[in-house]
Amino acid sequence: MAIVETEALILKSYALAEADKIVVFLSQNQGIIRGVAKGAKRLKSRFGGSLEPFTIVHLGFFQKEDSELVKINQIELKKTFFFNAVSPEFLQKFSYLSELLIEFAPPNEPNQRLFRMACVCLETAVEKPDDLANIALYFELWVLRLAGYLPNWDKCENCSREFFQNETVNLQINFHLLCSTCQKAKSQWQISPEERKIFMIAQTLSPQKFVDWTTEKCAEIKEISFILKRIISHILGKDIVGDKILAFAK
Ligand SMILES: [Zn+2]
Repeated sequence: MAIVETEALILKSYALAEADKIVVFLSQNQGIIRGVAKGAKRLKSRFGGSLEPFTIVHLGFFQKEDSELVKINQIELKKTFFFNAVSPEFLQKFSYLSELLIEFAPPNEPNQRLFRMACVCLETAVEKPDDLANIALYFELWVLRLAGYLPNWDKCENCSREFFQNETVNLQINFHLLCSTCQKAKSQWQISPEERKIFMIAQTLSPQKFVDWTTEKCAEIKEISFILKRIISHILGKDIVGDKILAFAK
């Protein structure tokens, strides 16, 4: 059996039997990987402290054809953000975002952009701990976009006219937008020009620049994050309350 090697981000780890651990990674080359780290719970484990969540590692593993679990051979620590997770807000936010990755990242498929986005968002959150909500919004939006679920908010879904910059538009139940001409009944939910601009600009900026650009826009960030959570919840068929994806299906 050949060793497969990839850069990977540890999303979570938990105990398996007496001495072992299961570690869930987002990898650069194979999407989500679940691996067994033999003896990881022993005091003198060769994995040392390198199995904590929010750690970027170089991972080597053996893959069996008939098993979903790979066998972890070696882990070389590159960078860890684990010690930043002492803040409950950081821990809560990134545990939720990790769950999103686990739900949305296609298994056994390389996704360099998703991997890079997740790592850069972690770095940004460490640099700017007061802007967690903005970073989380950026993260939610990109997870949806890279998985092909992000609606196009450039134009009216019905008449295909591109919206003007200062136009207030109407959110539909399918999360697409209608212009005021095409909106027949009174709209339940309107999207302001500022909200739409944040949605559009998140798709063009780095997380650092996005955070700088939106730092004073708390109300709009909250509103769009709420809509994205509804989209996520709709796709997964699970409720999202606060920063938690509830385990039961509808
Ligand atoms: Zn229209």
